[in-house]
Amino acid sequence: MKPAPFRLERPNTVQALCQALRKHGESARILAGGQSLVPMMNFRLVAPEVLIDINHVDGLDYIRLDGDVLAVGAMTRHAAVKESSLVKANVPLIAKAYAHIAHVTVRNRGTIGGNLSHGDPSSELPTVAICLDATFVVSSSEGSRTVAATDFFKSMFETDVRSGEFLSEIRFPVAARNQRFGFEEFSPRHGDFAIAIAAVALEMKGDTCVSASVVHGGIRDIPGHMPAVEAALQGKVVGSEQITHAAEATLSIEPTLQNYHGDAAYKSDLLRTLTARALSQAVAEG
Ligand SMILES: Cc1cc2nc3c(=O)[nH]c(=O)nc-3n(C[C@H](O)[C@H](O)[C@H](O)COP(=O)(O)OP(=O)(O)OC[C@H]3O[C@@H](n4cnc5c(N)ncnc54)[C@H](O)[C@@H]3O)c2cc1C
Repeated sequence: MKPAPFRLERPNTVQALCQALRKHGESARILAGGQSLVPMMNFRLVAPEVLIDINHVDGLDYIRLDGDVLAVGAMTRHAAVKESSLVKANVPLIAKAYAHIAHVTVRNRGTIGGNLSHGDPSSELPTVAICLDATFVVSSSEGSRTVAATDFFKSMFETDVRSGEFLSEIRFPVAARNQRFGFEEFSPRHGDFAIAIAAVALEMKGDTCVSASVVHGGIRDIPGHMPAVEAALQGKVVGSEQITHAAEATLSIEPTLQNYHGDAAYKSDLLRTLTARALSQAVAEG
């Protein structure tokens, strides 16, 4: 299949990008790595009149420490994030998730900003961003605003990026010394989108969990916290019994994304197993 006809614009600066977005509004789509958008255009699931290619915009491709935050520019390629020693040292949950994200050719073109803007619930990074309480910087000709990860994803393939805006930066809190992380997913083949995901960030004092962030992905329209699991961990000594008990609490989350990969009961069971494994992985880091 070939895409419907479109016009291509290639701004070189953020200012020119903002002007193009304001001028074309809803009739335009941003082209980042093209790994999701181009197949959608080829299948004519989307037919933008104008494509605004942001591959040549200066200043959107970086990974840097900004105090206790790791700031990643939206146009940073997956491959660069995956290989970054800054990422590995400061936000280890991202590094764990990247072991599961796509294939080398896709990672060489695909971008972190494109991935998160696409809003696919079966992607790993939305789950990671919510688990870590990341902040999204959304920019336009009017300036920039920040959005918490829990508010950024509105529905499947729908985010809080509005007409005339673009995602410019993602800000991840640097891991504290007493934080432990776990990431588990199940997918049909290595590098495919996930059928279910569990991401865990535990703040520990000795064997006791001071606070827990436990997030599901791939089973509902948007990833989300699992409060019953978190409550089962907070203030508790986290050993194998407590992990089994906490993982049982995943059953309070109803999987609503059902397809040929499995029904609700299957996904529920999968989530329980993945959550137990992710918790064990986090605790084993200690
Ligand atoms: C074979 C294959 C396997 C894959 N496996 C996985 C996987 O296992 N896990 C996974 O997470 N992903 C996977 N992907 C998707 C991959 O991660 C894509 O790179 C990603 O989803 C989209 O990033 P992109 O830069 O290519 O964005 P594009 O395809 O260029 O854009 C995607 C969408 O985001 C919008 N957009 C892009 N950048 C911005 C921005 N800065 N601001 C606002 N809107 C923007 C576009 O307009 C479009 O609507 C796979 C893709 C392929 C082809």
